[in-house]
Amino acid sequence: MQAPGGWRRGVLGWMGAVCDAVTSVFFPAGCRICEQLLSTASRVPICQECLDSFQKTPQRRCETCGLPLPTLSPAEAAQVLCPACQEKTYAFEKARAYGIYSGALTQAILLLKWERIEPLGALFAERLMEVIQQEGSTLAADLVVPVPLHRARERERGYNQAGLIAKPLARKLSLPYKAVLLMRTRPRPNKQALSIKERWESVRGAFATRPGSQVDNKRVLLVDDVMTTGATLDACSSALLESGAKSVVGLTVARAVENPLPAKVRGKLS
Ligand SMILES: [Zn+2]
Ligand SMILES: [Zn+2]
Repeated sequence: MQAPGGWRRGVLGWMGAVCDAVTSVFFPAGCRICEQLLSTASRVPICQECLDSFQKTPQRRCETCGLPLPTLSPAEAAQVLCPACQEKTYAFEKARAYGIYSGALTQAILLLKWERIEPLGALFAERLMEVIQQEGSTLAADLVVPVPLHRARERERGYNQAGLIAKPLARKLSLPYKAVLLMRTRPRPNKQALSIKERWESVRGAFATRPGSQVDNKRVLLVDDVMTTGATLDACSSALLESGAKSVVGLTVARAVENPLPAKVRGKLS
């Protein structure tokens, strides 16, 4: 026999479910970064203040890799390369980033990476268009390629976050989007934080173009979410150039600057 209070618990449970549903309709979700209520309807779950707080990369930067060089005057910065580029560290011709990897921009990138918020990928593509327009013909390309994840990692996650940025960017540029041209043949080590040396070692020779890929004499725009040491963009660029690409330019949403690449890092490793 049912306990006398059983029906009441059932009704209360049902009412609770109705209340939850009503709450979720009448109280819109907050900003995913600062939790402030979102005042405007947008597919990007980040408030305007957080979006406005993204810190853009300064104009004073290394001409080749885009590393901010804030201690130089604009005239000096136009002529000076960072230590890594003086050592010709990278295989790419140029790299640029929209912003500095810090604060709300870091959190937005992590949201895209772990939660597949595709409208955020489109927003980042818009910001990268601004960078391309500023740089003029120096970032001109024939096709757009995302930095790939290893097949096992992509299967586990269900998507490649670099692709969520590169695909809408290619559409805006009216360029072919080549998601399977480049592949990661060796996975990233499982260890959470890698030292600078480990980063370079973990990506060296870890990428290859797919047999039969048409990259001959093409200028490639290589897209990723973050440039940290530049090791990944460098390894991807090497693979593309070995397959006959004419040039590679790297474009990322953010650039990590608190982790500067020591000069001759590659020399020390080889
Ligand atoms: Zn916010
Ligand atoms: Zn540089």
